[in-house]
Amino acid sequence: MSPNESALVTRWESFVQKTQQRFDETLTESTQLLIEQLQDTDYDYQTVFRTWSAVKNQIFQLIDTIDNAWNHKVEPLLKKEGDAWYTVRLSVGDIENNLHQRLEVHDLYIQGKLSELQYQHLLPNVNKDYNCTQCGAIVRINPKIFRAQYITCNACNTTNTIDLETNYVHLVHQLESIAAYQNLELFKTMQSALAELQAERPPAPEHLWNAYQTAYENYQNAKLESLQTLRTLSEEEVQTKREKFQNELNEFINIQKHNKYGEN
Ligand SMILES: [Zn+2]
Repeated sequence: MSPNESALVTRWESFVQKTQQRFDETLTESTQLLIEQLQDTDYDYQTVFRTWSAVKNQIFQLIDTIDNAWNHKVEPLLKKEGDAWYTVRLSVGDIENNLHQRLEVHDLYIQGKLSELQYQHLLPNVNKDYNCTQCGAIVRINPKIFRAQYITCNACNTTNTIDLETNYVHLVHQLESIAAYQNLELFKTMQSALAELQAERPPAPEHLWNAYQTAYENYQNAKLESLQTLRTLSEEEVQTKREKFQNELNEFINIQKHNKYGEN
């Protein structure tokens, strides 16, 4: 590598490092900010979610600066100096992929964390003793059912209709996020297995396909178990969810491994 090339590569590496540092700082600072905003807005998830979407856009733009700087500045300059550009270019995609993967994990983390905080905040308002309208005896609801409940009083047999707080009922849409958040390590294992698979020139070796399939099923099964600790699911609902994630896996394998579309 010529001195001119060395100097350009050093500048490039320092730019990449600063961008990665900015990426880390943005994740850390925004996490703190979002949690504070959730508390300050009295747990208004939608507002905080909009803030996170805006932050996420900024992070996407930050990741794009790597590609832009490389394509429009660094590579043209390096090409004038010799062949070193070729080796450096091989790493550009990896740097970006790595940041996109970390952002994907962090996105699950944020949505799950905020949802869990909201859940913990709202649960005590709902999961408490209620009094029978007829005799005043204590009746209890099932907090794993996210709708109005009809509870028969043990003392006088009156059926009480108990409406749950609307905000709590709406939480039903965020339970999947909480379940994903509770299994982030398994998600990361699945993500790495997929990255390894996709880094191979097709056809990828069978053991990588098996590793991905195992990691996928481990994550999905654990997520489903977590979901069941939060919400009462009927056997049919559990079965439907299992079939859905198995079908998604089969479809992915058909397309990516066998180049078959629209078959099962
Ligand atoms: Zn009663």
